[in-house]
Amino acid sequence: MHRPLVPVAEVTPNTKNWTNKILVIQKLSPRQSQSSPKKYQRTWSSRVQKVFDIPLFLGSNSLIDVLAVVVDKLEQRSINTKYGMSTIQELVIVNDERKPMILTLWNEVVSTEGAAILAAADKMPIIAATRLHVTDYHGISLSARGFANIIVNPSYSETHSLRTWRANHVFLTELVHEKKYLKLSSSHQNIPRDSFSSVANVITNNIEDKFWVKVTATIMDVDKKYWYMACENCLKGTTGEYGWEITCNFCHTEAIAKPRTKFAITLSDGTTQLDVVIW
Ligand SMILES: [Zn+2]
Repeated sequence: MHRPLVPVAEVTPNTKNWTNKILVIQKLSPRQSQSSPKKYQRTWSSRVQKVFDIPLFLGSNSLIDVLAVVVDKLEQRSINTKYGMSTIQELVIVNDERKPMILTLWNEVVSTEGAAILAAADKMPIIAATRLHVTDYHGISLSARGFANIIVNPSYSETHSLRTWRANHVFLTELVHEKKYLKLSSSHQNIPRDSFSSVANVITNNIEDKFWVKVTATIMDVDKKYWYMACENCLKGTTGEYGWEITCNFCHTEAIAKPRTKFAITLSDGTTQLDVVIW
């Protein structure tokens, strides 16, 4: 009988007749059931998230799994948290989606899984990391605490394409050479907690032109498109279609028509609202 594929997140104790595709990452020995003659075996399964979907899990308490290449390691350090001093090891991970992200190992994970990763760090190991928290530290980052499980260079078949990508791609070499992810992480890291402005202050402040705000962003008009066709030189609008060679009415050069992102959002934080155009 054909049964529908149901995402694990939607399976509840009341869900019946469901099928799911999972990746088994760890198996315990088979055990005898106490209440029936059947044997059973516990398995850990993995549902690997796309890196681009990870921000969706922020604030949800969901634990997520990733499969990625460890491209760099930061200096191991101790930080003061509300639970006391903690040892952290930050790693930079990336996969074929090409969006580097910081994975922070905490305390015991630094000395267990972390030690195995660091031992292989020069060879850019692939890791299968499960039960990670999504946090807003460093922009969006991942956090591996006690119940996380990280396998270094796992041998299952799902890692084959990532291994091929790692072997063939100049992207990784450039990424590690330029280390742009470090600038990204430190710029987020250094925002003083009291430096956020209210939206009302942003509007009335005529002196500064850069602000950190904590806001809710709302798309005002969902029917509008999120881009316009632009001259590749001056970025002004054109009636030419994608890829056309145009003579631009504004900068008067021969240019190619290319789409450019543009949409409007409303920022609000309880003090007031501000309409903002994202380019
Ligand atoms: Zn132009």
